[in-house]
Amino acid sequence: MIGKKYDVVIIGGGHNGLVAATYLARAGKTVRVLEANPEIGGASQSVRTFPEYDANLSRYSYLIALLPDKIVNDLGLAFECISREVSSYTPYGDNQGLYVSRTWDTKTEQSFMELDPSGKEGLAWQDFYAEVAQFAERIAPTLLEPLKTRSELRKQIDLDPIWKYLIEEPIGKVITQRFSNDIVRGVVLTDALIGTFASAFDIQANICFLYHLIGNGTGEWKVPKGGMGALVSELVRVATESGVEISLNSKAIKVDSTSAQVNVELQTGEVVTGKYLLSNAAPEVLAKLRGTSVPKSLDGSQMKINILLNRLPKLKSGIDPRLAFAGTFHANESFDQFESVYKDAKNGLMPEKMPIEMYCHTLTDPSILGQELQDAGYQTLTLFGIHTPASLFDGDNDVARDAALKSALSSLNDYLAEPIEDVIAAIEVKTPLDIEEAIALPRGNIFHNDLSMPFREDGTEPSWGVETDDPRIFICGAGAARGGGVSGIPGHNAAMAILSNN
Ligand SMILES: Cc1cc2nc3c(=O)[nH]c(=O)nc-3n(C[C@H](O)[C@H](O)[C@H](O)COP(=O)(O)OP(=O)(O)OC[C@H]3O[C@@H](n4cnc5c(N)ncnc54)[C@H](O)[C@@H]3O)c2cc1C
Repeated sequence: MIGKKYDVVIIGGGHNGLVAATYLARAGKTVRVLEANPEIGGASQSVRTFPEYDANLSRYSYLIALLPDKIVNDLGLAFECISREVSSYTPYGDNQGLYVSRTWDTKTEQSFMELDPSGKEGLAWQDFYAEVAQFAERIAPTLLEPLKTRSELRKQIDLDPIWKYLIEEPIGKVITQRFSNDIVRGVVLTDALIGTFASAFDIQANICFLYHLIGNGTGEWKVPKGGMGALVSELVRVATESGVEISLNSKAIKVDSTSAQVNVELQTGEVVTGKYLLSNAAPEVLAKLRGTSVPKSLDGSQMKINILLNRLPKLKSGIDPRLAFAGTFHANESFDQFESVYKDAKNGLMPEKMPIEMYCHTLTDPSILGQELQDAGYQTLTLFGIHTPASLFDGDNDVARDAALKSALSSLNDYLAEPIEDVIAAIEVKTPLDIEEAIALPRGNIFHNDLSMPFREDGTEPSWGVETDDPRIFICGAGAARGGGVSGIPGHNAAMAILSNN
């Protein structure tokens, strides 16, 4: 059955699809969004994960840095992100921990001095992050422009020594040169490995590091007020107010195109036609729909564990858990541990002590819990386990999920004064394969495919980083250049690519 013809059809109702749709609708285009699932939002959903508890958890993505203020202002989103006073806490040894505030302060300095009485690590930390901040500030505004070439961007940023160690040499090199302590090295490295199955000495880790540090020019990771679903609700509001049609339970199963239009066949039997097609679905999903060759990417490599707690657990170090879990809590994430777990996982071994990071959303924003749970002292923990590639789960996902959960909890329990199991009210565990099944991220890759550098190579065609081999089809999701993360950037850029042609 063929119906109305749209200017633009968008496959996927993730946050990027909604951003693209709204920009296009406001420019006068007719737009229809087709989402396979009964829920909108893709990896940016908040869900009442445990039906018996009034708690709306950010089921997949949980922190925001990359969403530019420009998109929030352009679209008029009534949406707020809250700063965390604590940046991170990393327990080590029998009862110690490295505490880092969002801005360098006496408490942070003392904590660094306990770890390294020479004071060198603390100074190295301040110097390194001041340099990275300078770089971030210069690169962030370019993300909403057509891609610059490598040489153009390098010239514009004009910070050659930093360019060299962030872009051209493996990130592991600068980390091991500038820092000597294994714990501190690990805290720096973690931003290079989130969702990226790589060694510290693979350039892919540099790209991941870059995206984790350049958000909005500051790289600060903030808590979405009301959970990630609050962003999506606002995006749905502005999209529908702008005239976008959103269809849920509308899985695309085939795409074909002519020189004049693109047809999308749905599982329901409907065929939706547009002058242009945007794919918010991953490039691999789009390739399968079009019957073209499938691009290869790294496996997704993370566990996402959502936990509701009766109360926060006590720590061996004696730090107030309200401080320890208010920022990112790292366990078993030293540089050497990362490298050795990576090698083991590559050889098919589940880590015995999974490198994990977690944070307690409710310490910054209790509003994701109903009043009764808040009054009773409940808290949430979102746990992200690293270096658990999809291949570890291929044999038997259920058995491997149990093993991974055991490894993650045992990693955490190393630093707790009481087993975490004693304070868990409810828990949900998502492997890369579970994530693929739920929201079609190929092999659970949280960035849809391998992240790419935020420039095009010299001598290549001008581009927004969203084009495909078909002039009527564009990528508007995380799989575009400068995609990955909750940013809306590929959504904005795909809309601009279409509008600049018309
Ligand atoms: C566990 C996890 C934790 C993360 N943590 C963070 C974080 O804290 N901060 C951060 O910035 N990023 C994080 N990310 C990454 C971030 O969530 C994603 O990169 C981002 O949400 C991608 O948004 P998107 O709109 O491009 O695509 P998605 O959110 O993936 O949405 C794509 C949509 O397309 C739909 N779709 C796919 N195929 C079809 C089809 N055939 N027909 C119709 N619809 C289809 C899907 O159902 C989905 O709704 C995380 C991701 C995961 C999985």
